[in-house]
Amino acid sequence: MNITPWHHEPRISLTEKQTVKLFLERGGCCRECGRRLCPKDDWIVEHVIALECGGTNEWDNLGITCGWCKPQKDAKDHSQAAKQRDVAVKHLLPKGLRKRRGWNTTHRKKLNGKVVPK
Ligand SMILES: [Zn+2]
Repeated sequence: MNITPWHHEPRISLTEKQTVKLFLERGGCCRECGRRLCPKDDWIVEHVIALECGGTNEWDNLGITCGWCKPQKDAKDHSQAAKQRDVAVKHLLPKGLRKRRGWNTTHRKKLNGKVVPK
């Protein structure tokens, strides 16, 4: 299967043992902030390079992230993935197929700064 900015590897779930093994192998620290995690802390297994950004389910691409860093990591991944889709569109779409975007498709700004309908 071709991996494109719109496709990614299906998410796998680790067994409980694999999850603990990963936790120990990563030194029990959050990959984002380095916080040392206790069993009572909230943490998750995540992809170092997110699947939606072209990452894989390889063991080396798995890390642990604490509950505090997860929202930032998610936001970063989503915006990066969105950017990759934008870049793909920009690079691959011929000019003739591009949609005009923004407010100026229905309005035009005159030299004197007045906005008028087209
Ligand atoms: Zn963290």
